[in-house]
Amino acid sequence: MSSGPLCGLITMLGMSKMSAGEAFVTLATTDPYCMGATVVAKSLRRHGTTRQIVVMVTPNISEQSRVSLEKVFDEVITVDVMDSEDRLHLALLGRPELGTTFTKIHCWTLTQYSKCVFLDADTLVLCNVDELFERDELSAAPDPGWPDCFNSGVFVFRPSLQTHKKLVNLALQHGSFDRGDQGLLNSFFSSWPVEDIAKHLPFVYNLSANSVYTYLPAFKQFGHNAKIVHFLGPVKPWSSQRLDTMEEFVSQWWKEYHSHTVLPAPMTQLSQDWD
Ligand code: UDP
Ligand code: MN
Repeated sequence: MSSGPLCGLITMLGMSKMSAGEAFVTLATTDPYCMGATVVAKSLRRHGTTRQIVVMVTPNISEQSRVSLEKVFDEVITVDVMDSEDRLHLALLGRPELGTTFTKIHCWTLTQYSKCVFLDADTLVLCNVDELFERDELSAAPDPGWPDCFNSGVFVFRPSLQTHKKLVNLALQHGSFDRGDQGLLNSFFSSWPVEDIAKHLPFVYNLSANSVYTYLPAFKQFGHNAKIVHFLGPVKPWSSQRLDTMEEFVSQWWKEYHSHTVLPAPMTQLSQDWD
């Protein structure tokens, strides 16, 4: 028996199973953020990810946005946190600011996947970052404003209904110290700053715009190693207000937005991988 082709077949089956079980996940609750999500998907495809690309949306987005997302994402999942649990519903009526936070932590309910990487809709992927799936929950990069907190724009997680429930309960009991998902997630994964250095992603996986003016020499030295850019803050590439930093990345963002979809070519990719 020749082991070569069989090996190849086994590898293929293994790979396709692995690819089906892991996904990049983003979120868009408004039409402008759908523009961002589109760029997340296109930039992941451009760099040949072998993983599924999934977007969670809320029912209010326009039909046009949904159609555009369906062209570039493997799955468009409608989530409506307001309907999911009565208790949650009541809490949200009193604390509307937690709405987007609850929508984001909904990613833990995607249990059809064994492991995921969440990317904010205001990120741009600059190279293949599939190696992120080698990391465990909860892996993330430090926040530039308070490096003992992780930034929740890019993180590796394991979907689990149990974890989701615990996160919801924590939010209902204590809210979030920054009124957003980042405060909640840092309270929940509170051992992140000290426990395991393997869960600290290098900063280049979540390079935020403000690092340019907070530490310009480092940006000049290391900026070219960036793997994922994060347009953190109130002004986004799609805002009418101009971003005054990282013009280069902003123009790359627009190029990606207007680019034609780069469809995945799994067979070519796989045969290349086996050579
Ligand atoms: N988001 C959304 N609609 C909103 C606000 C936020 O869909 O109105 C999602 C989107 O994926 C976004 C993420 O939540 O990237 C976090 O918000 P944002 O990126 O604006 O926060 P920042 O990174 O600037 O703190
Ligand atoms: Mn963001």
